[in-house]
Amino acid sequence: MKRKTLFVLILAFGLLIAWILIITDEQVRDKLGPTLYIIGFAITGAMLLLLAGYVWDQALVKTLRSIHSTTDSIKIESQPMGADEESDSDEIIGLARKIERMARSLQQVEASYKGIVEDQPDLICRYKNDGKITFVNGAYARAVNRKRNEVVGEDFPYFAPGAAIADEPYTFESEMTFNDGRRLWIRWTQRAIKDDERTTMEYQAVGHDITERKEAEAALLRAKEAAEAADRAKSEFLAIVSHELRTPINAIVGFSKMLGSTTLTLDQREQVEMINSSGLALEKIIADILNLSKLESGKVDIEHAPFPIRSCVQDICAFYAPKARSVALALDSKVDSSVPEIVNSDEGRIRQILNNLIGNALKFTERGGVSVEVSCARGEPIEPGSHRRVARLFFAIKDSGIGIPPEKLDGLFQPFSQVDTSSTRRRGGTGLGLIISKRLCDLMGGSISVESRVGEGSTFRFSILTDFEEA
Ligand code: ADP
Repeated sequence: MKRKTLFVLILAFGLLIAWILIITDEQVRDKLGPTLYIIGFAITGAMLLLLAGYVWDQALVKTLRSIHSTTDSIKIESQPMGADEESDSDEIIGLARKIERMARSLQQVEASYKGIVEDQPDLICRYKNDGKITFVNGAYARAVNRKRNEVVGEDFPYFAPGAAIADEPYTFESEMTFNDGRRLWIRWTQRAIKDDERTTMEYQAVGHDITERKEAEAALLRAKEAAEAADRAKSEFLAIVSHELRTPINAIVGFSKMLGSTTLTLDQREQVEMINSSGLALEKIIADILNLSKLESGKVDIEHAPFPIRSCVQDICAFYAPKARSVALALDSKVDSSVPEIVNSDEGRIRQILNNLIGNALKFTERGGVSVEVSCARGEPIEPGSHRRVARLFFAIKDSGIGIPPEKLDGLFQPFSQVDTSSTRRRGGTGLGLIISKRLCDLMGGSISVESRVGEGSTFRFSILTDFEEA
């Protein structure tokens, strides 16, 4: 039992005994006479006062205990209960001390949070549900170049009356103009601040200055647009120049051919043939440059018309057969039975790719031969119930030529890329054939790749997306 309770009980008990002694002793009763009633009332009053005081004291202790348990549930960094507290005889004083310590702790916590908020370079602002600002940090006040108390009470600039602000953080970017003329891009993260009962108390907006990033993005965009404009200008220039060069070259090729049919000495004939072959080589270079510049500037349209793919491949092989025979190379073609007779695509462009690849294969092969293989993967009808089905055609051009070193394979499909410029000089070429083929494959929904081993040969594969009418 607590000392205080014991003391109250002893006192009450003492008063009771005194009262019993008084009223049981006849002599005392007679001596006191009517004063007996006064003493009786006094003793009863004193006992009631004592009991009321005790009850009030207990109620106070109970209240403080509940405060105690509430504060204990809040994890505040407070000092542990000291020995002095345990030895504290008065519970009320003990609790009061604890509350005082807690208040100090809370002040420390508040000071440290305030420090964090104030040291933030980000703009922090709190506002009520009518948009009126209740708090801004130093960074916000500095950014708007105003005193804090001037800003508090004003409307938050991005408050939209009636617009629901999500519980989850919501982010948006905006450009702010300040009274000193500065313009900053700020990324705001906004959310509702709720109490324990999930009732919205206030809203909070945290703004991060992203002006530098925005300026860098804008500079990048400008640079990209400038680069694109320069690229377009380059392609247009190439197209105009190539076109202008064609006319005189046509004349060189045409007149040298005519001259070759006249009576000439052996030396003259050799020189005229050289003029003619140089003219033809120049014509090819110009055609390639024109082709690539058109492809790069997106001016090439792909046709979609039916044509017999087998005879297309056979024609090209027949065209190269004399050339292959002249250098003792075999040239075979094999079109798989899965390939439809007629496909819808751009025959001219497919011929162009095959010409490039078969021409290269013959050019870079000294022994053995070249083979052309075509296969097909038939797909779904282009729409439900339709007789027309999509198909992917696969082409493989294999040779047993000089091959390409592995480190050169990656850069092969780049403009003007040639593995060995000295050998290419001997064999001729512009370094544009593969990049043109790649661009055409891309346009026809396909791709191109190469496998090669030095000294063993190369295989160029490409695919295109097409469709065909089912028989
Ligand atoms: P080019 O007009 O020079 O042949 P391409 O773009 O068609 O231009 O080819 C680029 C280079 O790739 C060639 O110069 C050559 O070095 C290499 N190359 C292409 N095809 C083959 C092949 N079948 N075998 C070996 N090297 C090849």
